[in-house]
Amino acid sequence: MSEKPLSFSTTKVNKIAQCPGSEYKKFNTTHTPNSNLQRWKSINDAIIDWLVNQAPDEVAITQAEENNFKYLDRLQQKISSELFLQFRDIYHKNTADLNADFPNSSISKVINDEEVFINAHTQFEFEDEVSTEYVKLKTGKKGVSDLDKAIILKTRLENETFYVADLYNNDFLEISSIENADEVIDDNFLLLEDFINENIKLIPGSHCTLCERSSSCGEYPSINGEGTKKSYRGIVISKTNLLNKDNCERQFAWKTQYGIPKEEKESDPFPMKVGISFHKFSGMMLLNNKDSQKSGEIERLKNLLKEEDGEVAIEVIKKYEQLLNQIKDFNNLEITARERVLGFTAIADAIVQNKSHKVYEGKIAATFMGSADLVGRLDGAPLVIELKTGAQLPQHSAEAELYALGAFIQTKEKEVVVLHIYVSDKEEKIVERRFTHDQIEPLKKKFDSIAKTIGQWDPSDALQPRFSEGDWCNFCDFQKTCLEFR
Ligand code: SF4
Ligand code: SF4
Repeated sequence: MSEKPLSFSTTKVNKIAQCPGSEYKKFNTTHTPNSNLQRWKSINDAIIDWLVNQAPDEVAITQAEENNFKYLDRLQQKISSELFLQFRDIYHKNTADLNADFPNSSISKVINDEEVFINAHTQFEFEDEVSTEYVKLKTGKKGVSDLDKAIILKTRLENETFYVADLYNNDFLEISSIENADEVIDDNFLLLEDFINENIKLIPGSHCTLCERSSSCGEYPSINGEGTKKSYRGIVISKTNLLNKDNCERQFAWKTQYGIPKEEKESDPFPMKVGISFHKFSGMMLLNNKDSQKSGEIERLKNLLKEEDGEVAIEVIKKYEQLLNQIKDFNNLEITARERVLGFTAIADAIVQNKSHKVYEGKIAATFMGSADLVGRLDGAPLVIELKTGAQLPQHSAEAELYALGAFIQTKEKEVVVLHIYVSDKEEKIVERRFTHDQIEPLKKKFDSIAKTIGQWDPSDALQPRFSEGDWCNFCDFQKTCLEFR
């Protein structure tokens, strides 16, 4: 038995639940600067400085900001200052004793003859003579996880209360209970048992964008077969974020490297609901379906849609009929998987930053990935299908290129077909792109060149990537912020 207890934070267990590979062989990772995490830490430290400083409030605030935000660029300083102010608005400083050393509640189970702990951390513990309050700090969209809630519920004492300071929604709330706490805890220990016994499975998905093992886990092999090193700066570029790369480097950089919060826009949620539902149910209908045109298929779809909102279901059926009409002449079409992740890693020279904020010349491992709606074969060739419920955009060709190179690297075949199928009220068509072996080298060069561009962004300075104004600004998520920081 090892002397040090085997313990896992809930954050780590939640990552293992998404993909056990993400926490396995951590010695073999790249350093992936995560601006959101860095800002969270600066805000957490500023709050502690403010809470312990007995000076008048104005002085305590200025000192806390100076100590903790001075390494950030002007934009990130502003974002951090606003979140710090939000905390002061929802939490009133008082005289209770503070413990800010990541207090935690733990639960344990014996696995392989060893006691294994899962720890639910909070950030602040305030204690007076009669009661203790714990506060968990959240700055992002994600709320408190079920695993945290379950552990808190099973371990808290009568005089203890747990709160979440949710700076994203500007709320200070008691952490809610869950009904199936035992089940949640048991399920997570089962996951850990597999992890400890090294039954490691890769589960790729959108969470790969925050993984430090994207260039080494094997899911996104490097274009030239070159291995990556721990000193490399890692970054994952999803196909969605790749789409606007040619228009404005700042927009591309703010989405991918710096996690700048998007400005809220009024949007009609109905088309989005239809889009999500259409993708899901079309995939279910077409997967391993040898004859999608046979009679009774629309009835089958209606059955699948029984639980959906009625208006959404009507739209989905309409779009699925359009889709069937588009693919009716394909005789040798096989759909073998849906939401299949495809991607690869490009390595280039880059500006790298170490954990002590020191910047130096090094390398970047830029992983490009996307989740293809459907994959299979068309006339024997590997096939990728993207379903689109909106208009055709010039950027869709970049998406096709990513999938084509990903499919070439994965299948090692001579030809890859990428179909974009458009089913909107205004447009109903297929755009077919056939990629042949002689296009692999130009595609590799293209993605190497994007990796070089990203590599030149200083990860500590969100204002460094150039902005470029154009019609695309009308659709940008950062219009006001961008104007303010020119
Ligand atoms: S990149 Fe994705 S698939 Fe690979 S280990 Fe990380 S989360 Fe898992
Ligand atoms: S508003 Fe225009 S210039 Fe500014 S980041 Fe967005 S696209 Fe770029």
